[in-house]
Amino acid sequence: MVYKGLRSFRPFSAPFRVVLNTLLPPLCSLCDQAANHRTQLCHHCLTLINADHQRRRSSCLLCGVELDHQVATTTCSEAIEDTPLPPHAKKQTANFVSLNDGALHCATCIRYPPAFDRCIAASRYSPLSAKLVNTLKQGGKLACSVPMAELIIDAVRSRYSNQPERHIDLMVPVPLHINRLKIRGFNQAAEIAKPVARQLGIPLALTACARQTDTPSQQRLNFSARKLNLQQAFGTTTRVNGRRIAIIDDVVTTCATSNAVAKSLLDAGAVSCDIWCFARTPLNG
Ligand SMILES: [Zn+2]
Ligand SMILES: [Zn+2]
Repeated sequence: MVYKGLRSFRPFSAPFRVVLNTLLPPLCSLCDQAANHRTQLCHHCLTLINADHQRRRSSCLLCGVELDHQVATTTCSEAIEDTPLPPHAKKQTANFVSLNDGALHCATCIRYPPAFDRCIAASRYSPLSAKLVNTLKQGGKLACSVPMAELIIDAVRSRYSNQPERHIDLMVPVPLHINRLKIRGFNQAAEIAKPVARQLGIPLALTACARQTDTPSQQRLNFSARKLNLQQAFGTTTRVNGRRIAIIDDVVTTCATSNAVAKSLLDAGAVSCDIWCFARTPLNG
């Protein structure tokens, strides 16, 4: 708060405030305390978000959902009971199985394999990460995309042995329909994608995939309704032909949107699609 007060202190002239802003550390995107220049988050908020990331220890190799013993739900237990398991698959707990390569897969991915190869999430969707997403999306504070991008970069570097640029040729943000873009004024997925692309040196195709239908909000729909809602929702240019794509999103909930975008890109000739998101909701989230 001290830093925020100093920056806007009225008796200071405008040019002096500009100089002050360059000398003082940036303000945390979440709490206005002095922040780290790279992540634009203060030490406290960064520690809490990293703790959310650390908690995501065992997750489905495909969709990135956490596979925690404590979060097994009735729905998932039933899903796995009904699911014919591939040869050599070993049931580990109520909600996940281990295939013969030792990789963990959730019941949903065994039953309905996604079109994308993997979903990499920087953080769990927690009250704090939700606050960051909402401050960007609803509050229009574009600077919030910086910490999200930094945390995505850390996550993908760790997943691709520090060389994501050797596995991905093109980044494509999940598109917004033009009507929503006009209302909001920006696409949050594109805002997060820009600094990620710049830092990793991967080309970004902001218009390669377009949302053709203004589908109703996905938030209150269940898995099947979301899937139905998104059929034919996306159209893709041939620019993606032969490319290995990373699809960028702020939050992944059921993977219905990510999957529909991936299908559209693969239909247009993309070789593979991975999902990079800031936050992934837990199984019962
Ligand atoms: Zn903070
Ligand atoms: Zn899964």
